Amino acid sequence: METIQAERYAEQLSAELNEIQRKGLYRQLRRMDSASSRTVTVEGKPLLMFASNNYLGLSDDPRMIEASVIALRTFGTGSSGSRLTTGNFILHEQLEKQIAGFKNQQAAIVFNTGYMANLAALTALAGESDIIFSDEWNHASIIDGCRLSRAQTVVYRHADMADLQSKLANSSRYRRRLIVTDGVFSMDGDIAPLPEIVRLAEQFDAWVMVDDAHATGVLGERGSGTADYFGLSKQVMIQMGTLSKSIAAEGGYIAGSAELIDLLRNRARPFIYSTALPPAVIAAASCALRIIESEPERRVHLCRLATRVRSGLEELGCRVMKGNTPIIPVLIGDAETAVRMAGELEREGVFAPAIRPPTVPSGSSRIRLTVMASHTDADVDCLLHAFAAAGRRVGLL
Ligand code: PMP
Repeated sequence: METIQAERYAEQLSAELNEIQRKGLYRQLRRMDSASSRTVTVEGKPLLMFASNNYLGLSDDPRMIEASVIALRTFGTGSSGSRLTTGNFILHEQLEKQIAGFKNQQAAIVFNTGYMANLAALTALAGESDIIFSDEWNHASIIDGCRLSRAQTVVYRHADMADLQSKLANSSRYRRRLIVTDGVFSMDGDIAPLPEIVRLAEQFDAWVMVDDAHATGVLGERGSGTADYFGLSKQVMIQMGTLSKSIAAEGGYIAGSAELIDLLRNRARPFIYSTALPPAVIAAASCALRIIESEPERRVHLCRLATRVRSGLEELGCRVMKGNTPIIPVLIGDAETAVRMAGELEREGVFAPAIRPPTVPSGSSRIRLTVMASHTDADVDCLLHAFAAAGRRVGLL
């Protein structure tokens, strides 16, 4: 009896998997055998990494590793409890103070992932009597946070301020209006029109929340993100970011007023009901923030390399999406060709997987290249050479 039931489950699940496969959307994990900040060994083959979010190349910085090791020796491997019970180490509090200073805000709170930070903020701040305005290209964790919050969610066309304005104009019956946007859009690499968003927020008495997962450490005079880039640190009330990309550790944060952070500590379920991040991770994140603030030359180098990659690809005839961040998407079109292009790039020694639906809209599959501060000009030469050869073989160039 049990076996027949198990067989039926397996059949049902296989049918769902076959459907995913039929649409060309089946995803397979790739195994990394080792990794440095600019190279990776994938299933035994050494490749140049051109797709990581480790924008500042800090993941193998000896200072980061040393800081983690010291924390491991001092505090052990796990935090063993939630922050509100037994897991609140001095390291967590120091990191939160550092983040608040870095973001020019009164306070900050750390969550276990960026994903959880978005869920936490949106569910704690918005409920059934509220309305959230969300850019159509916002990250999945924002979409999920909106759903979980039970607030009315209105999706506005990507970076379309006329659309946002007309939607805001119809929202007077709600208790709270919240506009939420990625600062840098993860799959497109463009920057949100924050000055216009802030202007509309002032006009319609709305709050602004920015997800700076891809802007932290990259944008702005101090590298502190999109609000810093536009000189709007005081106007963006809810500033979210991750510790997992430029900061090369793990976790997410919200920075803002002392009251906002206190409310999140008291109401955000991902904070209350999850074990705190382990000490080694927190120590690495603290170390990364110190490096970001003291070594602006990393951002300058990163920006120069990104410009080189963009213009080099355009000269080759690639369809490069416009932008001025280290995320450089090259549009391919259909998912199958994008996968073939990624395979050919790999044959040429470059790791840059294809990005397909549902992560991006159908027909806009792409190779999402990212540059890191640890890359050299010689690495960029290799990338451009690989793109030319792979593109010719796939019939794109
Ligand atoms: N927001 C954006 C824009 C992201 O790109 C990501 C991660 N890809 C997240 C949030 C989630 O962050 P994390 O990976 O730290 O959970």
